Amino acid sequence: MQKTELKPSYYDQFACIGGACEDTCCAGWRIDIDKKSYQKYKNEKNLAIKDVLKKNIQRNRQGQTDLQYGKFKLDTDEKCTMLDEENLCTIQKTLGEKALCHTCTVYPRQNIQINQTFEKSLDTSCPEAARLILLNKEGIDFIEDEAIQHTSYIEHVEKTEIEYQYFWDNRIFFISALQHRKHSIETRLLVIGLYIKKIENLSIKERMKQSSYLSTHYLDLLNQLEEDELLATFQTYPLIQTKLAHYFLKEFNTDSAYFKEIATSAFNSIDLLEDIIAFSEFINTYKKDYQNNSDIQIILENYLVNLVFTKYFESEAKTNIHFFSYLVIHFSLLRLLIIGNINHIDMNSQSLVKIVQKFTKACSHSSIYFDEAVNILSEKEFSIASQAIHLLKI
Ligand code: SF4
Repeated sequence: MQKTELKPSYYDQFACIGGACEDTCCAGWRIDIDKKSYQKYKNEKNLAIKDVLKKNIQRNRQGQTDLQYGKFKLDTDEKCTMLDEENLCTIQKTLGEKALCHTCTVYPRQNIQINQTFEKSLDTSCPEAARLILLNKEGIDFIEDEAIQHTSYIEHVEKTEIEYQYFWDNRIFFISALQHRKHSIETRLLVIGLYIKKIENLSIKERMKQSSYLSTHYLDLLNQLEEDELLATFQTYPLIQTKLAHYFLKEFNTDSAYFKEIATSAFNSIDLLEDIIAFSEFINTYKKDYQNNSDIQIILENYLVNLVFTKYFESEAKTNIHFFSYLVIHFSLLRLLIIGNINHIDMNSQSLVKIVQKFTKACSHSSIYFDEAVNILSEKEFSIASQAIHLLKI
């Protein structure tokens, strides 16, 4: 059967800018080594590199898959120890590009095969990829074509025909709803949440049968609703917002100096554990600036659409409710970072791309912050979908 390729329209424009990169992927976070490369590096015979390689790699005992089998050691500046004094990769220089491990070969690309389709996307933790993803004024669009070639690093997900249709119905609905610009992002997410609550109440068989009809119904709802009419019927929950803000901005530990700086400066005059009123007043003061800034709205939309395209297939197995919480928590944390800093950072497209890129890089390799955010939400008596919905209104 002929294979197809699905990718965002900007995908082929990506090219690493190497030395001109303001936040190289060879520093500032854990760099995973897949099992095959790790073993190859351990047994390397080339005298020019074998000792350096052995010294600078280590096992990653916390790794959950073979792709996270090992990691490169970092120096005191958090740089990969395989970089030379000119910041060039000694593995690539000595052994050639083919010797690079999975992470260094594909990053910031994600290539997966779902049934007969190769899906290609980019990650917002790379500054150059983040510009391509986030600065699409008209919204992200996708190209489907015959597949010509594909890399050998493709993860393969196989679904039955009916599961595949269900996956497509849901993902197309999520993306169409997120790009429905008549409404605020909050309302778009709210309607996705209502659809998910509805569908998860059905038996698995009924979900598959009704997803196409229900997703059309909820898109019609977005068409028919007056701007933010639905959101107005929901309450705000400042207590959950302040707890989340306190954990994420004041307690979450990361090595990223810029992330620490913007997290510290957000809501810096407010005691987030004690003063909920001051927090609510702050949000009310700057809410309009956040809502009326079209750069913020477009960048958040593109961020979420990219998250759906790249992550939905992974989370789907753990239910749509889990994915919805994942989406809303990422959105809420990013919104807190932006609103918390709106009175002292000029929120233009360049600074916003930087905030999203640093947020992704500081958080995407850490499962802790997401799990902790879920724990904070779980303290409340609502169901998990309701908890995520209650985070939306500010
Ligand atoms: S972060 Fe992106 S642009 Fe920067 S060095 Fe890595 S791949 Fe290249």
